[in-house]
Amino acid sequence: QNVVAEIKSRIGLFPNFPKSGVEFKDIFPLFQSPSLFHKVVELFEENIKENHQEVKIDAVLGLDARGFLFGPLLASKLNTSFVPVRKKGKLPGHVVSTSYALEYGEDSIEMQTGSLKEGDNVVIVDDLLATGGTMAAACKLVKQLKLNVVKCLVVIELTGLKGREKLDGTSVYSVIQYE
Ligand code: 5GP
Repeated sequence: QNVVAEIKSRIGLFPNFPKSGVEFKDIFPLFQSPSLFHKVVELFEENIKENHQEVKIDAVLGLDARGFLFGPLLASKLNTSFVPVRKKGKLPGHVVSTSYALEYGEDSIEMQTGSLKEGDNVVIVDDLLATGGTMAAACKLVKQLKLNVVKCLVVIELTGLKGREKLDGTSVYSVIQYE
């Protein structure tokens, strides 16, 4: 638990960023401590190994953009592949896409097809779960491809926003929480 407190102490808190009334959680200070950054990825790895030892993880999916910071290292530790899920228009070749609602309007996320097949087991990684809109969209995309989401992994969960409830019972692990 000490190490979790240490990780939490490294998160930068910025009131009224990017807009008034929001307190932004900045994960980048974590990268100034290689051991704590590694510890976060180890906690993700341990969670998967302890709770899902019976399944073979076929890929780690990282969400644009800060999921890309943790995903490849986790994939490497799990000895599996890393696949990015990006905002629309960023990925070349054949992609599947899904749209989701934002506060104003909507956005889409995309993933390249080809590396994964129906029935494959994936975990999805991002830095932070807030309203759950982004993670829910990723789960929807994954379901379109008939993949199985074993776990959603985030460094930070804003529990008061109840993002988990948007994920249709998909299991979530967060390293640290804020109300
Ligand atoms: P949601 O879709 O759950 O409302 O928002 C989560 C997404 O927005 C994540 O992809 C995350 O990177 C980003 N996000 C929202 N608020 C914050 C924040 O305070 N700090 C960071 N680092 N990312 C945030």
